[in-house]
Amino acid sequence: MQSSFPSAHDAPALTAHHRGISVLTEDGEFLTLSIAEIRERLQTMPCPLVVHAPAFARKLGLHAPGQPCPWLDLLELFAFVYPARSVAPTPRGLALALGVEEERIGQAEADLLPLLTSLMLAELARLKSGPEAEFLAALTVRLGQAGWPWAGTVAETLGLHEKLGPRGQLPEDAMQPGDALRVWRVLPKWEDVAPRPPPASHPITSAEARARLTMLLGEGAESRAGQADFASVSTAAFEPRTMHGNPAVVLAEAGTGTGKTLGYIAPASVWAERNGGSVWISTYTRHLQRQIEQETHRLFPDDATRRRHVVLRKGRENYLCLLNMEEAVNSAASRPAGVTIALAMLARWARATADGDLTGGDLPGWFGDLFGHGNITGVADRRGECIHGACPHYQRCFVEHTIRRAREADLVIANHALVMAQAAYSENAMADDSEEGEEDSTPSRYVFDEGHHLADAADGAFSAELSGLEAAELRRWLLGAEGRRSRARGLKRRLDDLVVGLPKLETPLDAALMAAHALPAPGWSTRLAGTEGENEPPPHPAEDMPAQGEDGLFPMVQNAVEPVLENPTEMFLKLLRQQVLARSQERGRADHAYGALECDLHPLLPDLAQAGQALARALGRLAEPLRTLAERLHARLQDEAESLDSVTRGRIEAMVRALRRRAITRLDAWIAMLDALDHPPPADATPTHIHFIRLDRREKQRMGEQDVGLHRHWLDPTVPFAAVMAMPAQGMLITSATLRDQSDTPRKPPTEEGQTEDLYSEESERAWEAAEARTGANHFPAPAIRASLSSPFDYARQTRTFIVNDIDHGSIADLAAAYRTLFQASGGGGLGLFTAISRLRGVHSRIAPALEESGLPLYAQHVDAMDNATLVDIFRTEEHACLLGTDAMRDGVDVPGNALRLVVFERVPWPRPDILHRERRIHLSGGDTTGYDDRIARLRLRQAFGRLIRSQSDRGVFVLLDRRTPSRLLSAFPPGAEVRRMGLADTAREIESFLPRTPQN
Ligand code: SF4
Repeated sequence: MQSSFPSAHDAPALTAHHRGISVLTEDGEFLTLSIAEIRERLQTMPCPLVVHAPAFARKLGLHAPGQPCPWLDLLELFAFVYPARSVAPTPRGLALALGVEEERIGQAEADLLPLLTSLMLAELARLKSGPEAEFLAALTVRLGQAGWPWAGTVAETLGLHEKLGPRGQLPEDAMQPGDALRVWRVLPKWEDVAPRPPPASHPITSAEARARLTMLLGEGAESRAGQADFASVSTAAFEPRTMHGNPAVVLAEAGTGTGKTLGYIAPASVWAERNGGSVWISTYTRHLQRQIEQETHRLFPDDATRRRHVVLRKGRENYLCLLNMEEAVNSAASRPAGVTIALAMLARWARATADGDLTGGDLPGWFGDLFGHGNITGVADRRGECIHGACPHYQRCFVEHTIRRAREADLVIANHALVMAQAAYSENAMADDSEEGEEDSTPSRYVFDEGHHLADAADGAFSAELSGLEAAELRRWLLGAEGRRSRARGLKRRLDDLVVGLPKLETPLDAALMAAHALPAPGWSTRLAGTEGENEPPPHPAEDMPAQGEDGLFPMVQNAVEPVLENPTEMFLKLLRQQVLARSQERGRADHAYGALECDLHPLLPDLAQAGQALARALGRLAEPLRTLAERLHARLQDEAESLDSVTRGRIEAMVRALRRRAITRLDAWIAMLDALDHPPPADATPTHIHFIRLDRREKQRMGEQDVGLHRHWLDPTVPFAAVMAMPAQGMLITSATLRDQSDTPRKPPTEEGQTEDLYSEESERAWEAAEARTGANHFPAPAIRASLSSPFDYARQTRTFIVNDIDHGSIADLAAAYRTLFQASGGGGLGLFTAISRLRGVHSRIAPALEESGLPLYAQHVDAMDNATLVDIFRTEEHACLLGTDAMRDGVDVPGNALRLVVFERVPWPRPDILHRERRIHLSGGDTTGYDDRIARLRLRQAFGRLIRSQSDRGVFVLLDRRTPSRLLSAFPPGAEVRRMGLADTAREIESFLPRTPQN
């Protein structure tokens, strides 16, 4: 086996650095070559060791290699030896993860790679006598059959040459290569337990919360008065509720560095223990969920104990679906070898993962770069096709297992979108008087971290979109793949034996499936842009569906449908597109060939109202049989209560839930939106909802591939948020470092650490009221309890803030020169924040070569094909790296220490001037539209500034490259952070003299 694969032992090695490419030749010669030289040498060189082949290829100006990779990528070996463990995907990151000392890492030249290889192979050799030995052997042989370049070296390390037969086969009694991928056979099964009783309502005291906090911090920990105060005030969110629909709400602003995560974990864990319930801790992003989970290690240092008490919950689409994995494995033989390699590496991970979380969990963020993002999404349940109890892997399913663990946990770490969706579903179920089983037992205590994002999350959760993509997705959910090369399962296949032979169920199902042909047919996007091919079959409509008979049954639909010429959804979408193209202001520049175009819904194009009515009728004909089907399925639970086994019961409950959530609720929302076509909003009234049309043109794709839709958003999305939370929530803590806009807050010099501010001045009252409006706290019956804890940081000592006043912000060349100068002045460690992707790219392409030459590697969101978490991992590990990013980097980067010492913001982050913003600033600003915009910009600047200082020993510089910055925005910066306006050269000199010198800066 080994002979046909490259050997890693005498392979050359390559790393990129600012002087070119560091090369260790196969003869042991140590060189630095230019990119042109190494590209030429690669033609004849034996297979080299590299780290992160896609990134290395891009460095050489080559396309990222596919699988099997032509090089020996050390990250692939890492994924094989250390599954379910992440690492920054650079030579330095690997070296640190493998315990190599800093002095040995040095500049991470090519001679480091053989050392890293040998360390990993030494660990692999240790595994060959462990419990996984047989699996590793089978997996290696399967990978070798697919051409994995490490297969020879790994086989040699595992001693396979002694085990393999003459044709490379494993002994008959050993695990066979094909079986190694069938992980669903070996994963542990979950077992149901009796439902958890409802929690008690015993209060907890401040003293208990403080004592728990002290325990979490450990003996001798630095005392943070603000953190203990935060833990104390948070206990009010755990008071027993006094009136139905009136939760205790605590609004607590905790300045950066307060330590609020442990501050709320302390009371939450005390309450959960005492009352036998779960506290749901919600944050904005999946990445932040993982950060909170890390903090719970102090509460439960033992992995097994923590696993019982703390569960990280995400939407189903984030987890590995074993049935999809099985189908992918079964079809892999007919697909390219790279698919088998990806599935084999996924199988390796699946046996080691804690929870099967594919996105932001223990699957490294760079896994998709190496093995194909499509191979990951293909094994997740992205389209809601789960067949629940009918699935042969149900009892080993990661999703089901996680849901069950969450029911028993003390702390469930979730995200805002999931919490809101769950609360909305449980409210709908109550409104329907439905007794369908919920996935999660509805929690009663919540902590909302990153509370300043609640309105954004609610805006997404409670908006509706009738677009081509959404409607086509529903068609696919109902009808399946429709003959395309896809494994998509339709509703019929998922319901299967639940309806077969039962006319009361089969008839509405058939009617619904026929009516589903009114949704966009395959190829809709191309037809929408008016570029359909001549051979494309016309969409099949279902405009005239039969009505339900008096008996509630539907007539046989095959004979009842008269074919008509137009698909009603596609017809409607075409008119939407026509209206948005006619009314939006296209700027006609090349960089606007993608992105969104918007226009108001009213006034309508002449034919749009009629098309909307036709579509509403067609959607009604789809919704009704689905509703009938759901009701009759649900009735089976009662009618056959004595004969249904628990698996079938569970399946029926899950299918009813899926029908309601995936189809009926969505169709009802669409029909309501279409009703708005006939009801233009009165000009002089405040609307509840905002309707508009949007055309999305996706980047780097054909113009024909676009989407258009009718959108409906709440004017104030915190209204539905409060409405759905009011019933289940008995107590809520809403916290953030940036709840209040500082313009309305008295600016004080720094006070004693953690000292609570005076909350009762008039200005402060205004700031709190605005914070309550932004978080929805003002919609609950009882007033929120307010608290504010100052940041312990000394911003006057630890930071410098500049506005550069001699840059032409309209010139991308000037902007690029400014970034280059400032990043070089800080010696790297710079985070560049942008409000537009096009400017980010323009700056990146201009400064990357010069920074590389200075030894400052530059990474960028929207440029480097890596997810944000991976980019941040690299930035954190490579102390002299710089990173460019947009909104997600502004809000989610937590990089303590010297790795982040400079934040450069290209311009004032004003709100995007779109239709939603226009309406909200008119109706929610109280007449002060300028003040409304200012508040948004100030809060964003505060967020960005907050990235800079994460510990007492940090020093950092914040630079705004926008000379038009109004002085009224400067209150965004914390007390003590003096803002100075000066030229670029002076700013660079100030940075050089303020930041600590490091070996390279
Ligand atoms: S139960 Fe559903 S999500 Fe789980 S493995 Fe089966 S089909 Fe996939």
